[in-house]
Amino acid sequence: MADTQTAASGSGRSRPERRFVGLGVSPGVARGNAFVRGEVFVEPDSYRVEGIDTDREIDRFHEALSATRKQIEGLQSEVAEAAGGRDASIFDAHLLVLEDRGVLDEVESIVRDERLNIEAAFYRTMGRYVERLRGIKDPYLRERVIDIEDVMRRVLRNLARAGEGAAEHSARHPHIVIAHALTPSDTVGMDRDLVLGFGTEVGSYTSHTAIIARSLGLPAVVGLHGFASAVHTGEELLLDGYNGVAIVDPSPETLAEYADLEKEKEEVELRLEGLREEESRTADGRPITLSANIEFEHEAAITKKSGARGIGLYRTEFFYLHGDAWPSEEQQARNYTRVAKGVHPDGVIIRTLDLGGDKLPQDAEDAGENPFLGYRGIRVSLGRPEVFKTQLRAILIASGKAKVRAMFPMVSTRAELRRAKELLAECAEELLREGVAHDPDLEVGVMIEVPSAAIVADQLAGEVDFFSIGTNDLIQYTMAVDRVNEKVSDLYQPLDPAVVRLIEMTVNAGHEAGIWVGVCGEMASDLYFTPLLVGLGLDEMSVSVRRVPAVKHAVRSLSYAECRAMALGLGGAGSPEEILARCRELALARYPELIS
Ligand code: PEP
Ligand code: MG
Repeated sequence: MADTQTAASGSGRSRPERRFVGLGVSPGVARGNAFVRGEVFVEPDSYRVEGIDTDREIDRFHEALSATRKQIEGLQSEVAEAAGGRDASIFDAHLLVLEDRGVLDEVESIVRDERLNIEAAFYRTMGRYVERLRGIKDPYLRERVIDIEDVMRRVLRNLARAGEGAAEHSARHPHIVIAHALTPSDTVGMDRDLVLGFGTEVGSYTSHTAIIARSLGLPAVVGLHGFASAVHTGEELLLDGYNGVAIVDPSPETLAEYADLEKEKEEVELRLEGLREEESRTADGRPITLSANIEFEHEAAITKKSGARGIGLYRTEFFYLHGDAWPSEEQQARNYTRVAKGVHPDGVIIRTLDLGGDKLPQDAEDAGENPFLGYRGIRVSLGRPEVFKTQLRAILIASGKAKVRAMFPMVSTRAELRRAKELLAECAEELLREGVAHDPDLEVGVMIEVPSAAIVADQLAGEVDFFSIGTNDLIQYTMAVDRVNEKVSDLYQPLDPAVVRLIEMTVNAGHEAGIWVGVCGEMASDLYFTPLLVGLGLDEMSVSVRRVPAVKHAVRSLSYAECRAMALGLGGAGSPEEILARCRELALARYPELIS
């Protein structure tokens, strides 16, 4: 729960700092000005204009529109220079709003027919659009409200000729984004050069928004209740992603404390960097492949530097979510090849599209009332074979040039897995006929993230080359807890005996069939859980790329025999607390420096 505290600075400052407590979901400390997304508008004055003045109002409108267009294009080229064309294309939607003939005509006729001033006419028209969009079920379209509001704010500001206000300044300079909520596509579009971190009022550790923040290396705090209305654009902020705290107007004492904390964290990181070349094996010699989860192509280089053995999960849907159109076979093949070559001689496990759940866009009517239980992952891919086959062909083409494996998400039955493999075989045959090189023995794995898949893991094991357990979803589906709904987050327990048993069943089924079993959910990045995962016999752990050194250190400090004995002794453990206590005991005994 969020909680507000104020503290007098003791240094004669007029404004005491204000602290808000939430949940840190991406580590790091950010300092900068707040940029509050969706801050409410001030409704413009409304008055009547007469005769020739209506023409003047419309002229003012066109001037404001062209000034807005220039500003957005300026922003677009700044972003293109700093981050590349794809990122800059997020502004295309903003520009389109300015060219929407329907909107422009409506505004002009209000001015002419009702003799209303332009600000009021524009505000009313846009307000209606926003209301209509808010009522639409499709979350992707609903999200366009943010773009429209952004454009609306700019046009009104230009009409008022307010020049560069606090919001404009913050948006163009490094800032900390504050919002009620952010979607994964909001986060994907964030520019690492401008966005220093983000704080939201709602959210959870395993939401894809948080996962992307970790990928981008942006400190993030969620669950800051009431924060978006308590802080204003332009205010000075300190965001502590380690401890889940946001501080408005931090005092000089607080800033000094944080400078010390950052130094301390940097020292730990520096020490861990020395492990890069070390092998990931337990103190008594059991090798555990440590690989990285990535969401963006540029992370291949970071993976290489982190000391990971390749990429254990490439979430390709973010590549899809980034642009407006589906990427072509060639674009995908090039992207996958570059990623794989980036981690040579290790490889990349390319997970096929996992759209749905909190990862949109997708077909509005297909999302259903319960998107996590609906049209998601392999279900979407099998429902749209033309899109799926394009991706499978691209993966196969990349496999002819570098080391790649394929993996299917959200599989709940053997029939789905078989159908996906059939389509893959069809693609391989096509490529053979076309004379396109590819790996004829492409390794194929399946994610075990739905309880039904874990329960029939013995049936699935004979069909694939490996299992990768997706604990983020396995926990939500086992416990019937929406992974992004903080109201039920107490029930989201990675160490619930039900979850632990399903992981154990999966590992055993995989090993009996002679295949390797990994875990790529966020659970593998949590150092409290490492003793359990090692003890359950996992062969691979794929973790958030920035966690690789710490997890490697934990693995190297543990003894497999000790972890195994602990895991086997859990048979009767009746609660997550009991299991956590045993894990914590081992973690504290073997790597206290990482835990405190
Ligand atoms: C998982 O469910 O654990 C997983 C790795 O996939 P995602 O987080 O993308 O759903
Ligand atoms: Mg998943």
